Amino acid sequence: DDNLNYKEPVAVKNAVFSKVPTEPLIGKLHLVCASEEALLDIMDLDPKVAETDEFVDFLAGKYLPEGSLSVSHRYGGYQFGYWADQLGDGRAHILGEYVNSKGESWQLQLKGSGETPYSRFGDGRAVLRSSVREMLASEACYHLGIPTTRAVGLVVSDEHKVWRDKSYSGAARQERAAVVLRAAAAWYRLGSFEILLKRKEPQLAARLADFIIEHHFPHIDMADEDKYVKWYSEVAHKNLDMVATWQGLGFTHGVLNTDNISILGVTIDYGPYGFVEHYSEHYVPNSSDDMGRYAFNKQPDILLWNLEKFAEALQPILSELDKVKIKAILDSLDEYVDNKIVTTYITKLGLEQIQDGDELLVKELLDMMESTSSDFTCTFRQLAEVDIEELQNPDALESKWALAKVSKARNWLKWLQKYTDRLQKENVSEPTRRQRATRVNPLYVPRNWMMQEAIADAEKNDFYKVRLLLKIFRDPFTVNEEAEKLGYSSQPPSWSYGLKLSCSS
Ligand code: AMP
Ligand code: MG
Ligand code: MG
Repeated sequence: DDNLNYKEPVAVKNAVFSKVPTEPLIGKLHLVCASEEALLDIMDLDPKVAETDEFVDFLAGKYLPEGSLSVSHRYGGYQFGYWADQLGDGRAHILGEYVNSKGESWQLQLKGSGETPYSRFGDGRAVLRSSVREMLASEACYHLGIPTTRAVGLVVSDEHKVWRDKSYSGAARQERAAVVLRAAAAWYRLGSFEILLKRKEPQLAARLADFIIEHHFPHIDMADEDKYVKWYSEVAHKNLDMVATWQGLGFTHGVLNTDNISILGVTIDYGPYGFVEHYSEHYVPNSSDDMGRYAFNKQPDILLWNLEKFAEALQPILSELDKVKIKAILDSLDEYVDNKIVTTYITKLGLEQIQDGDELLVKELLDMMESTSSDFTCTFRQLAEVDIEELQNPDALESKWALAKVSKARNWLKWLQKYTDRLQKENVSEPTRRQRATRVNPLYVPRNWMMQEAIADAEKNDFYKVRLLLKIFRDPFTVNEEAEKLGYSSQPPSWSYGLKLSCSS
């Protein structure tokens, strides 16, 4: 039969989860890396446990911890603006909830752990390169101050291979399968509700909403007649707070479909993401996003669009009054996120209180960075490090490569004067400015070129660089000698310009 590999998507009905066993990785396994903080802080485990076969087998999906039950979550989503119908965990298994010694509740999840009723045309697997990227970004973003899901550890198999079309030519080739152990308070997405709306399952939607409010928004009183309004408002504001942190760090998610937007307002699903380097507000890391729908500067508007879709999905469980109130909340979100983003940027400049004119001050800086192709991360970091007097003399900035670039902009000195005046208005002394700004402007972010090198080594079972990056990202705001030797805060190598990532992972 020519169609031997063809699979029908399974339409699951009236369910939020499907009970489904993991399909363990086969072959010789290697621990690629593990996050010490995640092991310790989330799972109460001594980081040494990562070196044991037992841990590696657990990550490979070979056994479940006592008392756990493996399930895949059913959700739908709008992909690139169009309703894509049922999606769901096509290659992930939630293993249940672990309540740790601090009383925090964490849902552990394996990604790449085999087929589920939601696999559609996929093979239920993840390859090493995308798993390394997810692992590093999850932990880096956590330490950068971005609300995010976490990654605990990563295993790869020598023999378990899967087919992927990795190259631009689309030629298929075999790659090794890997599994990441992820952790989050919960894995619900906007799409968790959208599927229930589209399939006309409002009772289940109401049950799910109540369950989520009770467990994850405990300060909302279940007897409150405004419970859904309050809940919607929190989901919306948390997601907008999250996107403001992205904008402040140049993080571009790449695939902001509604199935990738968390109900808890944490960053989910690190696929073809990227951090803006030479600044361009239209930066698009995802090679399949031809229209630039998910470009860096569009993220806040896309979040708003997604939240509108979420409000739509909730309609069947809302009262008439709820609907009016949620509409009013929606109308206020635009201004909320704009303010939040300006506040994020002025914090990067060492300021505290947003004032009239700040939006323009920030815009002018970004415009100069764009016209001079200055590196986003390093311009802000060096601006935080260099004395403001020195900034007046572009010729003296040669040792600070990013500033040397942006200071060539026509309006540089004019802007500096404006910035200096603005600092004075808030009485910010120079030491205070620098101290504040170095706390929020990182030296190191997961740049594609750094990960690309680490992945190339990992493909040969040399995991040194992956582990080193994980270590560096534990404190991305402090100079790390090894990172400096490798040029991680220097100008990115020219071969890395224009690197794009595919969704085929
Ligand atoms: P993403 O764009 O990564 O958010 O994935 C969209 C949907 O495709 C989700 O439902 C995933 O579970 C599913 N998916 C992606 N890759 C695979 C795969 N290799 N096997 C099965 N499902 C997949
Ligand atoms: Mg996804
Ligand atoms: Mg993905």
